[in-house]
Amino acid sequence: NADSAMYRAKESGRNNYKFFSVEMNMQVDQQFAIERDLRLALEQEQLELYYQPKFNLISKEVVGAEALVRWNHPSKGFLRPDSFLEIAGQSELIIDLGDWVRREICRQLAQWQACGLELVRMSINVADKECAKNRVLQNILDQVMHYDIDAKLLELELTEETLTKGIRNEITDFKILERMDIQLAIDDFGTGNTSFQCLKELPIDVLKIDKEFTRQLASNAKVAAITTTIIDLAKRLGISCIAEGVENEEQAAFLRENGCEYAQGYFFSEPLTADNFALLLKKSSYTDNKQLTLQQS
Ligand code: C2E
Ligand code: MG
Ligand code: MG
Ligand code: MG
Repeated sequence: NADSAMYRAKESGRNNYKFFSVEMNMQVDQQFAIERDLRLALEQEQLELYYQPKFNLISKEVVGAEALVRWNHPSKGFLRPDSFLEIAGQSELIIDLGDWVRREICRQLAQWQACGLELVRMSINVADKECAKNRVLQNILDQVMHYDIDAKLLELELTEETLTKGIRNEITDFKILERMDIQLAIDDFGTGNTSFQCLKELPIDVLKIDKEFTRQLASNAKVAAITTTIIDLAKRLGISCIAEGVENEEQAAFLRENGCEYAQGYFFSEPLTADNFALLLKKSSYTDNKQLTLQQS
């Protein structure tokens, strides 16, 4: 149907204007369909949080995890956030999605706590568009109170762009974060700009080296130099440093040898379902012989 419409537009004297307007209409339709589906997904619990563990590179202990949203779409299957977050960000849906993520992680933490699991710090990604309404923090405080969990267990991952906008618009009350001991991490560190401004002004606890840097560690001497400088910078600032996207031993070794404390990536573990992550937590709290790799089944 859409194809034939485009074909007709092309046929009618190769009218470029018409051609593009049909294409744009299709984009709008597609966006509308995803928005509608996503609204349903939120109501029908089609979203799911996966947890990607973070490891200490020396002790090999699990030190935390990052919650990553997934969508079990009824007809399109298992969707990763890149395919729907941007569209969600073009409407109010991103606010509802963020609220859902924060409620779900607090609910999960409370459940694990009730089962007697030894918990680790969990991080939540917060998108630029979510901050616009100035209610992310209030939402977190509400959920923390409602599920009666320790706010210290939470960390927020924001990109440099989001953070700098935050300073300008005074969107996020970073003082509250500090007071509640909620950690603040700069995600994809090194890919944005004004990093030093962020570091100077904000109570940053963690630098998260972008996976693009990790990927090129062995092949690009500049990237290796920048990465070691980021590790050194974190050390001098007295904050933590974690590398994301570690896929092989060579990368892990480079990071370890250059003083990076923590890492995350497929080499150690893929993002896990809640049940598999709970298994990993059990193993790491009850045995000395800690398993580094736990492949997702
Ligand atoms: P991010 O926060 O930078 O997360 C890292 C991404 O890298 C995740 O993709 C993760 O699955 C993937 N990854 C982990 N280990 C490796 C590895 O060894 N190699 C490679 N190539 N990739 C690895 P994912 O889950 O598709 O998420 C993509 C982005 O979507 C995230 O980037 C984050 O910005 C955003 N996102 C995910 N969940 C949420 C959420 O709940 N809320 C918001 N606002 N954003 C989210
Ligand atoms: Mg992240
Ligand atoms: Mg990242
Ligand atoms: Mg990244």
